[in-house]
Amino acid sequence: MKKIDLIIPCHNEEDNIERFFAAASETENSIEDCCFRYIFVDDGSTDGTLDKIKALEGAGYISFSRNFGKEAAMYAGLKASAKGDADYAVVIDADLQHPPELIKEMLKKLEETGCDSVAARRVSRKGEPVIRSIFARLFYKIMNRFSEIHLADGVVDFRIMSHRMVKTIADMPERCRFSKGLFQWVGFDTQWIEFENVKRVSGESRWTVWGLTKYAIDGFVDFADSPLKAAGVAGSVIAVGSLLYLIAEIIKTILMGKDTPGYASTICLILFFGGVIIAMLGIIGEYIGRMYIETKARPVYVEKESNIENHK
Ligand code: UDP
Ligand code: MG
Repeated sequence: MKKIDLIIPCHNEEDNIERFFAAASETENSIEDCCFRYIFVDDGSTDGTLDKIKALEGAGYISFSRNFGKEAAMYAGLKASAKGDADYAVVIDADLQHPPELIKEMLKKLEETGCDSVAARRVSRKGEPVIRSIFARLFYKIMNRFSEIHLADGVVDFRIMSHRMVKTIADMPERCRFSKGLFQWVGFDTQWIEFENVKRVSGESRWTVWGLTKYAIDGFVDFADSPLKAAGVAGSVIAVGSLLYLIAEIIKTILMGKDTPGYASTICLILFFGGVIIAMLGIIGEYIGRMYIETKARPVYVEKESNIENHK
């Protein structure tokens, strides 16, 4: 009997829980010799999500003391799965945008190819705001160009993983988590399955423009140190350039005497360098901020209650 853990991050999904459970159970029955263990992670929902989960027969859950974000919810689920004895774990959204029936196909591909992970990739971004698609595409371009990992376009947090891969990820205690990057960073063979984007069955996407921007910056800074290097290079180039300019000015003054006062050029240079320095401090600040958060070593989430034993 194959055991598969389903990790489902939920934040205010009261209308979707039952529908999701029904669809997932149907998938479970359609796969031969296999049983699912449900790990619903209630990420500080303020509606009836937790009650809906508790009412499901045989569903495991972890409930947070407040909203810690989807990354924290996935981490909690992965840790619980790593402590258990499941053969595989699946991370999947509760809003049915990740069709549960795809798990069957994913499992088949995983077993056929003997790889460690099969991940879903959206082939279209239909039903998504155009602006969001444009920025998402731009983000993947920049990420792949400048960071140490390669993200496939359209990759979503929907994948099946072997137990050893789950363990590896659960053992990474970093607080600034960007799972799409972590899944890639740990290595192991990954195969892809394509699917059409589907609209949310109920409720709104939890992402705000600011939330997505922060998520993109997090993802980039977590996996790339090229901005630091670029800042260093740019700083050195500007420093050498201004030194040459200074020498030229001194020689000019010695040879030709005092020039007319160059107020405009002076103020331009001061403003220019002021801007460059502040921009670079900003970049360095992003990294120092992250070091600050990591060194404080606060937990990624705080659990309020759970019915899953021995998962911490
Ligand atoms: N989610 C969560 N915590 C949050 C926001 C979202 O656990 O703070 C869950 C949400 O319930 C859903 C999944 O993460 O199951 C994806 O969220 P959403 O549908 O809002 O994102 P999108 O599909 O628009 O990327
Ligand atoms: Mg969604």
